[in-house]
Amino acid sequence: MDDVLRTTLYTAVYDRLDYLDTIVNDADTPSRVALADSATPMLTSAWRDLLNEHEPDEHGRCRACSPRWTRRARACSVWQIAHRHLTPDVLEGPAAGDKQIAGRHTLRPASSPAQRAGTSARQ
Ligand SMILES: [Zn+2]
Repeated sequence: MDDVLRTTLYTAVYDRLDYLDTIVNDADTPSRVALADSATPMLTSAWRDLLNEHEPDEHGRCRACSPRWTRRARACSVWQIAHRHLTPDVLEGPAAGDKQIAGRHTLRPASSPAQRAGTSARQ
C-alpha cells in the first residue's frame, strides 16, 4: 500500500470515528438512538472481523501477531484491547487487581463458535 492510499484510508477511518464521537457527545437523544441502531451492528461486525483475523492457532499463537518461527505464544494486542474495551465488567471484578489481562497470557483457541458462545453465556 503506498503512502497516499494509506493516508486516505487512515483519514477516512479517523474521520468516521470523529463523526461517531461527535454524534455520541453532541447530538440529541433521537440522533444518538438512531446511531446506536445503525452503528452497533457495524461495530460488532468490525470487531468480529478483526478478532477473526487474530484468532489463535492450535498452539495459542495469534495468526497475525506471532511470528511463525517462534514457539512461544505472544500476547495478541488486539485481543487485549478487545478484552479491555468490550468486557470492562470483568476488569472491575475481584480479578481486576491480579494484572492478568495487562500482563502476559496465552490465548487458547475455542474449538467452535458454539463453544465460544457457551463460554460467554456463563459470564
Ligand atoms: Zn494478534
